[in-house]
Amino acid sequence: KSRTVLLATEKAFAADAVSKIEAVTSAAGYKLVRLENYKSKDDLLKAVADADAMIIRSDKVDQAVLDKAAKLKIVVRAGAGYDNIDLKATEGKGVVSMNTPGQNANAVAELVFGMMITSARNNYDGTSGFELVNRSIAFYGFGAVARAVHKLAQRFGMKSFAYDPYIPAEKIAEMGATPVATVAGLFEHQYVSLHVPLTDETKASINKALLMKMPKGGTLINTARCEVVHEADMVEVFKARQDFCYLCDVAPDDKAAKEAMTAAVGDKFGKRLIFTAKKMGAQTLEANDNCGVAAANQIVAFFEKGETRFALKA
Ligand code: NAD
Repeated sequence: KSRTVLLATEKAFAADAVSKIEAVTSAAGYKLVRLENYKSKDDLLKAVADADAMIIRSDKVDQAVLDKAAKLKIVVRAGAGYDNIDLKATEGKGVVSMNTPGQNANAVAELVFGMMITSARNNYDGTSGFELVNRSIAFYGFGAVARAVHKLAQRFGMKSFAYDPYIPAEKIAEMGATPVATVAGLFEHQYVSLHVPLTDETKASINKALLMKMPKGGTLINTARCEVVHEADMVEVFKARQDFCYLCDVAPDDKAAKEAMTAAVGDKFGKRLIFTAKKMGAQTLEANDNCGVAAANQIVAFFEKGETRFALKA
């Protein structure tokens, strides 16, 4: 049976990735409809009417979208974080939701190291910096991205620590990281890297009390979601500590919050506060291809074989 797959990407994939997605859908006899770089939600609401399946990135799938999606059976978030899908609403309508776990992990891991080295070398301003070898990095969440960062950290001669209550401590140890029993325990280490999903439990969980515990040169790395950090607390920490650094791929959407942080740190040279221009962790040729193609394959496998391995639950 022919199906229509809507590629709804407010931030488009690289053209090459789109061709590869289309190769998968057309091999299955499906039609790929592209809604890329759209400017208003109305465009999405119109486009979704004919879709049997949807591939999205950070695009929001909420009740309003579902109300217009009469034929929709499956939505796949080409990427890891799925806080942009209202899972209660998709479940309520009997629409299956999936992500593409692990497909962009290496891209994010390399960005983490890019930001760490930029900060350790004072953004290449001509002054003496420091090396990462023998330093400690602690992971909040030890899923696909954290493990990819951990692998690179091992090669850099760093020591890894991890807190993830959903993974047995023995398994963390087997992978070569030292398990940490509490979130607070992470903040004894120089680097803390956030790799948890945004949930009620993790929202605003990184606060002043934790950040003030960090040793000298304490550096928080955030490639997860900006909402995991308590932003007002972060401003206070910058004011209280001249040594604290924040390396962030997920700057607040809220301009005022971003400006307050920038003003508090007074960091003209980008040593202590790094914000990428927009969320760039997964913005590589490889991650675009991996996530896009995985999403298309998951849709075909769902329709042709009833495959629901990557289905998400509210
Ligand atoms: P993942 O699902 O593989 O790993 C998440 C881990 O967090 C899991 O091991 C889970 O057990 C753990 N976890 C959940 N709740 C926790 C809690 N309360 N305390 C401690 N651990 C908890 O996902 P991933 O691929 O590693 O990605 C992690 C997050 O990073 C995503 O949810 C997404 O928000 C973000 N991300 C951002 C980018 C980017 O472009 N910057 C790209 C990929 C992922």
